[in-house]
Amino acid sequence: MNQRVLAERARRAIPGGVNSGQRNVPGLSDLVIAHAEGARFRDADGKEYLDFHAAFGPPLLGHNDPDVNAAVAEAGNGADLCGVGVTEGEVELAETLAELVPSVERVLLTSTGSEATFHALRVARAATGRRLVVKFQGCYHGWHDSVSLNVISSAEKVGGRDPISTGILPEVLEATLVLPFNSSQAVRQAFADHGADIAAVIVEPVPHNVGCLLPEQEFLRTLREECTKAGSVLVFDEVITGFRHHLGGWQAISGVTPDLTTMGKAIANGYPVGALGGRADLMDLFSSRPGGPAFFAGTYNGHPAVVAAALATLRKLRAEPVHAHVFALGERIRSGLTEVFDSLGIPALVTGYGSVFVGYFMTGPARTYDDLLRNDANMFIGYRRRLLDHGIFELPLNLKRSHVSYAHTDADVDRLLEAAAVAARQAG
Ligand code: PLP
Repeated sequence: MNQRVLAERARRAIPGGVNSGQRNVPGLSDLVIAHAEGARFRDADGKEYLDFHAAFGPPLLGHNDPDVNAAVAEAGNGADLCGVGVTEGEVELAETLAELVPSVERVLLTSTGSEATFHALRVARAATGRRLVVKFQGCYHGWHDSVSLNVISSAEKVGGRDPISTGILPEVLEATLVLPFNSSQAVRQAFADHGADIAAVIVEPVPHNVGCLLPEQEFLRTLREECTKAGSVLVFDEVITGFRHHLGGWQAISGVTPDLTTMGKAIANGYPVGALGGRADLMDLFSSRPGGPAFFAGTYNGHPAVVAAALATLRKLRAEPVHAHVFALGERIRSGLTEVFDSLGIPALVTGYGSVFVGYFMTGPARTYDDLLRNDANMFIGYRRRLLDHGIFELPLNLKRSHVSYAHTDADVDRLLEAAAVAARQAG
């Protein structure tokens, strides 16, 4: 069926026509996805896109990876959901995560990253008996109330509380302190003022929800030191950085070990798996029984099909040169785009890490969220809309990052760079 007709039906049956607020993209309200494979997807009218959006990041191996899909199909012949006991796959996945991720001694599986960050904060409050949570401007940790504020804020909202939804109790928002990323001084000050009340500090070690702010080592070390001194729980939200940048996450790259780690996205290449792992003494507060010190549950947690997807994904990430491939392509894209924009005289900063890239249209560095307020949002979005005309998909929303996968090729990068030159000229 014609995608305009389908999109109209969607808008009648589904509020906003899509199943996630993050999929509501101006100019793309008629987009209906029909098929995805490798580095490409096709819409319901048959138009094909070379995909650098990658669904916000899960398919590190590429869409519909045949090995992952085969593992899921095979899992279908075993247990489905029984709602009691544990399966061998869950045990194997928990052991694998503990082996890979430095902070992880015990693991609980969820279906999403949001559930993982929710439970991280719950157990931090349970362990410390404290109220406050610290987050950073520009970081996104999912849809739940304690963290639903100050992601992409306009200049006048930075410095105050900027909820991303109505319907949140003011006392919940007030229990979250928002600090500038990469500011050790702000962290020290917050601990000096409120340390005895801070249950947890949660941080995307690389805030990819605003493109890419690379963390300064000293900043991450300060988080670790202040949390240790005050007895607060340090949570690295590695839902994006985990497995994509390193099998051990950013904590393996930086050498800074948090108390708890949240995982998701690339862990299962697109199947719905999240995980919360960390120090045994904290994780063991989850008795998994009502009335236990901290309660954790979920009907679909550890579903055999998605556990099989995670195990197959991690096996492939370990066995094949996935990271070498995506890092090489990412580097080619960053340097290639820099050359393209320079040669056109367009002020731009192309940054990222490994397989993640983003081109801001601004001069100067990207250290803190405030720096990103200099980005020319019209140019950022306009350039990406022009890329769509060339069949290249980078999400046309301000500050969104892009990804390469194991399925992308050098020829795909060539195509992006050629189209970028035309799109930037047209948008500029
Ligand atoms: N944490 C980070 C860093 C994320 O980027 C996201 C989602 O984009 C989440 C948590 C929430 O994960 P999910 O959408 O699977 O609930």
